[in-house]
This record gives sequence, structure tokens and C-alpha cells, in this order.
Amino acid sequence: MDYGKITNNVLHWNYRGFTEFPLQRLHGEEDEITDIYLKENLISRIPSDIGKLNNLESLYLSGNDITELPREISKLTRLKCLDLSGNRLQYIPDEIGEVRNLKFLILDENEVRELPLRIAELRMLRYLSVCDNNLQWLPQRPVYNYHHCEFRFWRNPNLKTIPYSLWYHMFRGQQTRSLNIGCLSYPRCQETCNSTRRILRLNQNSTECTLNYDFPAIYNHIIVTSVVPSLFELCKRKFYEIISDAAKKLTPTPRSIYCDFYDTGYNENNNNVKSLQESLNHCNINSNEHNDENNNKKDLPKSNKESSKEFDDILLTTKRKGSCVPKDMIEEYFYYLPRFIKNDLCNGPLSRCENVRCKKPIFDFVYYEFCIEKLILIAASEDIILNAAFCSKSCAEAWKPGKNIVHWKFV
Ligand SMILES: [Zn+2]
Repeated sequence: MDYGKITNNVLHWNYRGFTEFPLQRLHGEEDEITDIYLKENLISRIPSDIGKLNNLESLYLSGNDITELPREISKLTRLKCLDLSGNRLQYIPDEIGEVRNLKFLILDENEVRELPLRIAELRMLRYLSVCDNNLQWLPQRPVYNYHHCEFRFWRNPNLKTIPYSLWYHMFRGQQTRSLNIGCLSYPRCQETCNSTRRILRLNQNSTECTLNYDFPAIYNHIIVTSVVPSLFELCKRKFYEIISDAAKKLTPTPRSIYCDFYDTGYNENNNNVKSLQESLNHCNINSNEHNDENNNKKDLPKSNKESSKEFDDILLTTKRKGSCVPKDMIEEYFYYLPRFIKNDLCNGPLSRCENVRCKKPIFDFVYYEFCIEKLILIAASEDIILNAAFCSKSCAEAWKPGKNIVHWKFV
């Protein structure tokens, strides 16, 4: 079969029987391609050099046999539409959060158990669909903006609870049938689970109904024996708050998707940048005791001139990407932090405190509460279990009054 020379920017390669992603057929013209249709082929792997397609805007790969999405997907910075429905994906890498222009992400009919936490960084996202998967649990914030993004997760039979904030923003008071299609079935009897992972048992006294959760691995650092966060956790929260405030200030408005406010001008000499620099000066962490193994820049702390140079680099990056996120600043300005801290900070928090007056980022210490709320259906209403994450017991206590709280424990 002759695939011919590429005559336009759109490749219609549906139903061709490809067993491999045909990147080599582009004969060095990868830059030209904007849309690739590869539906209903036999592709099992997306190559790690997919980033060569640096002008790609749409990639349709539904109906293949793909088991893994490579981390290098993050290099497709112009990608707006990614359709991976009808494959065999079990895992979506955190790096999906770096595909910052993504508007449509379709993951229906796969075997996905958990959504990555960083999916909430996709601030342009308008449509996220994860129907017919094997979701066990949803991140506290599955999408950045509940009002601007349609989020579908129907027919995930193992999903028994959703985050309180998701229910509050998307389903509270709305007549919807969607939520009870194949997920969120209210437990009628004791359910068993053979998993070796941690089991969370919910127990409502009034109904004596018990539900066991197979608690997701990404949350298995949840602390239940202590009610006090570690000092390390408190430091990460504080540091991340400073960095994310700074990132917001640095991001140009109003076209920014990162910024929640519209009152800041943007030029390199404005007050925001000055105040950011002041903020950063306060976190002048001495790295002498914690040198990163790959780090050969050992003459820290840096002189003002060097700091200023790196600061300009951040500004350039921000201009190029159109937004600034904590990861950029940590990698460029705080590269000398020990890797294990940097990874935590770059990956972002697990969640934010559900207490609206707090909203602190949460890393290793989570205080969970569960409650029952009514889901209003077209002709009836049904109880569903919601989960909410807090930074501390006191924030949880402040949230509880008026809620139908469910008791829980690990078994
Ligand atoms: Zn809190």
C-alpha cells in the first residue's frame, strides 16, 4: 500500500491494519502534521519519540490495543484533542497534566483504576470522559474548573464514593440520572474484597450497613493513627503555598488559564514580580547538606545576579507557555532541593483542604471524612456516599455540622 507523500496536515489512517504507530512513515515531515486519525488499527504501543510531532493538535487512537501512555506525551504541547477510547490502558501518567492546551480527553472503555492527581492541572480542559473503566476512586479535584469542563465517569462499577466538592459543584440539586448509571450504587449488604491493599470500612450506625473500600495505592500513605501532621508535611504545605501564589502572580492575565483573578497587569517590572522576588528571597534554602546527585551547581546560595538570571528564565518560560505553574518555578529556581522533596512539590498536592476558609495543599497527611447526601434523580432521590479531605482534624470538625457523617476505619 502506498501511503504517498504528505499532501496536507491531516493524516487519515483509520482502519489500515497498522500494528505499530507509523511515525517512521512521516519521513521527517513530523513538524507538518496537525491531525492524525488512527482509529481501529492494531497499535499496541505509542512510541516514546511521539514528541517529534510538535505541531500535533489532534490524535485519534480509539479502537486500538494500547496498554500504556508514555510520559513523553507531555511533549505534545499543542495537543488539543486526545482520544484513547477503546484501548487497554490501566494507568494514565501524571505527565498528562503538562499537556497544557488539551481541551478534550477521551478515555472511555479502558481499564483505568485511578486518574492521576495532576489531571487537575489541565486548565483548558473542556471535556473529560472516563466512562466504562475500572475507577475505584476519584481525585479530590478531577478537573480544574467544574463549570467549564464536562466530566463523565459513568459505568465504573467499583466507584462507590465521589469527592464532596465534585458533588457540590456538579450534581447538587440537579436532576440527573447520570450518576447512578453503573456507579455509586449504595451498599445494601456487606461487601467483600480480596485485595491485599488497605481496606477502608465505612459504617453507618443507623442502618448498620458496612461498605469495604479497596483503598487506592496512591492514597496508602493516609495517616489514621495520628491527628497531627508531620513537620515535614507542614513545611511542604507552606513552601507550596508560597510557590503557587508566586506562580499565579507571574502568570499573564487575562488570557491566562492558570490565574483565578484578573486584576494584575503583566510586565517584567511590575510590582507583582517584585513581590514575587521578595517571596522567593524568604525561601532561600541552603542546599549544602542536600546536594542533588545530578547537581553540579554547588556554589549556593546564589548571588543576586545569578538569581536574577534564573528569574528571567522563568519569565521567558512563562511567556512561552502562557502560564506559570509551581513545577516550573521549583525546577528552575529550586533545582538544588533534594530530589525526594522536589518530586513531591513538582507533582503537586494530593488535594486541597475541603474547608473553604483553609484550602491548604495536602501532601502526605490527609484527614478524611465521609458523609451521605441525596442524589436527586428524575423521578426519585437516592443516597450517595461522598468523601472529603482535610488538612487537619480541626478543619474536618468545622465542616461536619449539619452533615450526615459516616464513620470509617481501616480494617
Ligand atoms: Zn484545612
